[in-house]
Amino acid sequence: MTQSYVIIGDGIAGSSAAETLREEAPDADITVITDEGEALYNRILIKEFAKGKLPEMPISIHEPEWYEERDIDLRLNTLVTNIDPEGHRLKTHEDEIIEYDKLLVSTGGTPTQLPVENSDAEGVHHFWTFQDARSIRSHAEEAETGIIVGAGLLGIDLAAICGAQDVEAHYLMRGDCWWRYALSTEGAEILHDAMRERGVEPVFQSGVDHFETDDDGHVTAAIDPNGERYEGDFVGIAIGLNFNTEILQGTGIERDGGIFVDEYMRTSADDIFAAGDITRYHDTILGERAQNGSWDSAKSQGTVAAKNMLDPESEEFRFVSSYSITHFDFPFLSFGHPTIGDDECERKYSDTEWRRLAFKDGKIVGGVLIGDLSPQSAYKQLMREERVVADQKEVLLQQDVDLDDLAPSQEQ
Ligand SMILES: Cc1cc2nc3c(=O)[nH]c(=O)nc-3n(C[C@H](O)[C@H](O)[C@H](O)COP(=O)(O)OP(=O)(O)OC[C@H]3O[C@@H](n4cnc5c(N)ncnc54)[C@H](O)[C@@H]3O)c2cc1C
Repeated sequence: MTQSYVIIGDGIAGSSAAETLREEAPDADITVITDEGEALYNRILIKEFAKGKLPEMPISIHEPEWYEERDIDLRLNTLVTNIDPEGHRLKTHEDEIIEYDKLLVSTGGTPTQLPVENSDAEGVHHFWTFQDARSIRSHAEEAETGIIVGAGLLGIDLAAICGAQDVEAHYLMRGDCWWRYALSTEGAEILHDAMRERGVEPVFQSGVDHFETDDDGHVTAAIDPNGERYEGDFVGIAIGLNFNTEILQGTGIERDGGIFVDEYMRTSADDIFAAGDITRYHDTILGERAQNGSWDSAKSQGTVAAKNMLDPESEEFRFVSSYSITHFDFPFLSFGHPTIGDDECERKYSDTEWRRLAFKDGKIVGGVLIGDLSPQSAYKQLMREERVVADQKEVLLQQDVDLDDLAPSQEQ
């Protein structure tokens, strides 16, 4: 009998799952449902579009014809409102009932709103969709002053957009450096300098108490908790994601922040899988639950989920993710889980070269490389091998890392 596979979300996780399902199950019924008005596009590149560097075309990955050619039923502008795991069916905002044999939830997240006065004013932007990028670009092209909030990987994209669009901006951060959970002040200073060169001034021990607006309700300034006032007719906020799990209400599917899945991307409900940013997966390398927010991980999870939907327990998700920043004259890469761990080491090699590794129970669990990315494959290999190496930091921090210089670990 023909099996029906329904995928909620046409981001990279959902779309990769659909592609794998079609490749491996030529006769299956496959439906992809998305509340967005466009098929899969490259979310990583929408910042380049907002900077004014790329036209719309290269951002798009799949046109609707891609789905037609593969006999995949793509439903654009369709919001799933409710799932009934017992009945193996779901409901859309138009009360349409869609039945499934196997379901994949790959609904990602929605940017968190800053809970302060006037954070919904005109001119305040959050950044997740191509639509967001279009309004950010058109506003940044005419704005003169800006305010960025959120000292993480998406906040720095907004800062870079201001830099590229000649918006003089203040980047308000709560701590004493950018991405303080993964970088020290010494490492972060390399990025602070690069921001300053582009007209974006980092402000530390700051944040937003409230925004001021003009009579038309357009943002004009941010007042920080110290009472300092920063003018800005453009505001970009990136303080994290709320995961899109509302449709699971009443299903009993285990979740906390994200949806709990095992290494096969199975949720706690029969025949329901999840993939992408939305999952809190069982990380077989860490031996505990983890969550990723990266394109490569979401793509791999979508593929792994599809394989296990077709053939139970046929493929495990065992993956070291990477995230790079390409806004500056030097490369930047974080890998694994650089914000966790019980030990660390770091070194600065030059004004634009720095490295930090995070360890847990003696094993590498993540890191950040600035300037020279060449050791990434060695570090990732050690991470995948779960090798105890924290006692050999000198070898790990050599400019050219040679794994042959490491003493054999006790487990070997
Ligand atoms: C500006 C920006 C820059 C980024 N840069 C990088 C980078 O450089 N490197 C990197 O690795 N990662 C980057 N990321 C993160 C990366 O894009 C995400 O980790 C990845 O796209 C997640 O894919 P996903 O398929 O899990 O979720 P999403 O891409 O969020 O897709 C989920 C889809 O589900 C839809 N949906 C949600 N709820 C419903 C519902 N009820 N019914 C129907 N549809 C629904 C959503 O609208 C969305 O289209 C960036 C993200 C952004 C926003």
